[in-house]
Amino acid sequence: MTEINCEETKAQVHEFLQNELTKDEVQDILGHIAHCDSCEADYDFEVAFNKVVKESCDEAPPQELADRILQRIRAINSGEEKH
Ligand SMILES: [Zn+2]
Repeated sequence: MTEINCEETKAQVHEFLQNELTKDEVQDILGHIAHCDSCEADYDFEVAFNKVVKESCDEAPPQELADRILQRIRAINSGEEKH
């Protein structure tokens, strides 16, 4: 896992939420957030995701996609990710 800083973490949030990051990049972001009080406090995946969806879609949010991403985030955060 690559060490990334707060700015890099925040810069990649939108790409992450749009599924444009690789699994390794996602792990870097989550790894940073897990150990960084600043980012953890700043950064609410669900809020951020909903914001991106609203900005990028005129249609109703793709709830199925949202659920899938959030479940995946939670699995990674809780260490239950299967390899
Ligand atoms: Zn940070």
